[in-house]
Amino acid sequence: MTDCYDLIVLGAGSGGLAAAKRAASYGARVAIVEGDRVGGTCVIRGCVPKKLLVYGSAYRHLVHDAPSFGWHLDGVRCEAAQLLVNVRAEVDRLNQLHIGLLEKAGVDLVPGWGSFTGPETVTVSAADGSSRELRAARILIAVGGRPHRPAIPGADLAWVSDDMFLLEQLPEHVVVVGGGFIACEFACILHGLGVAVTQLVRGDHLLRGFDREASRAVQDAMEEQGITLRFAHTPAAITGECAPGELTLTTQSGEQIGCGGVLLATGRKPFLRGLNLEAAGVAVEGDAIAVDADQRTNVPHIYAVGDVTDRVNLTPVAVDEGRAFADTVYGQRPRQVDHDLVASAVFSQPELAGVGLTEEQAIARHGAEAVRVHRARFRPMSQALPGRGPRVLLKLIVEIASGRVLGCHMVGDHAAEIIQMAAIAIGMGATKADFDRTMALHPSVAEEFVTMPN
Ligand code: NDP
Repeated sequence: MTDCYDLIVLGAGSGGLAAAKRAASYGARVAIVEGDRVGGTCVIRGCVPKKLLVYGSAYRHLVHDAPSFGWHLDGVRCEAAQLLVNVRAEVDRLNQLHIGLLEKAGVDLVPGWGSFTGPETVTVSAADGSSRELRAARILIAVGGRPHRPAIPGADLAWVSDDMFLLEQLPEHVVVVGGGFIACEFACILHGLGVAVTQLVRGDHLLRGFDREASRAVQDAMEEQGITLRFAHTPAAITGECAPGELTLTTQSGEQIGCGGVLLATGRKPFLRGLNLEAAGVAVEGDAIAVDADQRTNVPHIYAVGDVTDRVNLTPVAVDEGRAFADTVYGQRPRQVDHDLVASAVFSQPELAGVGLTEEQAIARHGAEAVRVHRARFRPMSQALPGRGPRVLLKLIVEIASGRVLGCHMVGDHAAEIIQMAAIAIGMGATKADFDRTMALHPSVAEEFVTMPN
C-alpha cells in the first residue's frame, strides 16, 4: 500500500525539520523520512554537542586565570569522560524534543532511509527490514552532508567529526588533519581537555576564506596555548590499531607521528548515497544537487535545501531555505533566501567571527585604493590581571567613497555574539560614520568597534 502526502521531506536535520513544520502549519499533509536520529548533523553530531564541548574545554582557561582573581582551586581535575557522557545526555534530550515538536506540528515521522522509485514515489527501508512506499505531489531533499575522508591507506582507522561525540575517553595525543572550521574547533576542544594536539595543515595558513589577519590571530593564539601547528603537511597513510589505540600517521614527506587517535577534518560532501536520484531524474552538479533561487531542482516538483546543495553550509541558512520553500509553496508568501552577508563563526579558542567582505575580498573587488581597513588589537580587560593572551582583534573594512562598512571581523571572547549584532547594521548598509555616531558601551570589548579612529 502507498501512503499519500502533499509533501515528503527526506532528512530530519535543520533544513528538513524547519520545512516540514512550516509546511504543516499551512495545512499541508507532510511526512518526514529519517534513517538516523531526528535532529541531523547540527543537533546530533555537529553545532550543538560541539558548542557544549567548547564550553567544557574552555574551563581550562578559567581555571588557569582564577588565581589572579583571588580564586585558588586546589585539586582541580578534568574528567573528559564525564563531559562526553553529559553532552550525549543533552543530545538525547534534544532528539526527543525534536520528535515531540514534529508530533505537535502534525508531521508524520517515517523512520528509515528513503530512496526514489519514481519522480513522485519514495521507498523507505527501516532498520527492522520492513519497507513502506510513500507518494507525494512534492518532495524536498534535505539529507545534508557527511564528513569526507581523503583516499589514503588507513583512513578508516581515523575518526571523523561524527565519531568524536561517541568517544568514551580521550587519548593523550591526537593528530588533527585539516585547517578548516572543524579542525580548529576540535584542536582547541581537545587541547582544553588536556590532550596534546598536533594539527597538520596542507596549506600555509588556517581557515582559508576567512580574513587572513583574523585567521593569523587565531593561529597565534592556538600556538601560544601549546597546540602544535604544522603547515605544508599532508597525510599519506595511517597505520596501527583502531583508534583509540596506537596509531602512526605518515606524512607525504615521510615523517611519522605516533598518536592515540587521528581526526580527519578534511571537509564534508553532500550525502547522496542510496537516494537513487536517477529514478526521479534529479540532476547532480559536481557532488551536489543543483537548485535555483526557489530551492527547485531540475524536476519542477522536487526541491532541495541545506548542505546537500553545497551552497552556504550552515544551519541557519538551511533553516531559512526550508522555511522559504514552505512559505513560497504552501503559504502564498513567496520569498527567496539572501545568501549574501551571512555571518559565520569558528568556535575556536579564541573565537573568530565575521560578516561581509574580508580585507582580501574587498581589495579584490574594489581595488586597494578604494578600501580602508580600521583595526584595533589589544589585550582585553578580562586579561589584565591574568596577564596572558590572547589579544583581541577587531576589524572594519570600509569603502572609502561611500563610507559603507563592507565587512566586520573579530577574534576574541564572544566574537559570535558581537558579530551577530554588527551583521544587522551592515545588512542595513551602515557606514563608518554610523558606527562612530553610536555611543560606546564602556567598559566593553565591542566598544572599540565604535571608537576606531578614521
Ligand atoms: P573545511 O572545508 O572548512 O576545511 C577542510 C580542511 O581540510 C581545509 O583546511 C582543507 O585544506 C583540508 N583538506 C581537505 N582535503 C584534504 C586532504 N586530502 N588532506 C589534507 N587536508 C585536506 O571543512 P570542515 O570539515 O572543517 O567543515 C565542513 C563544513 O562544515 C564547513 O565548511 C562549514 O560549512 C561547516 N561547519 C561550520 C561550523 C560553524 O559554523 N562554526 C563548524 C563546523 C563545520 P584546504 O584549505 O587547502 O582546502
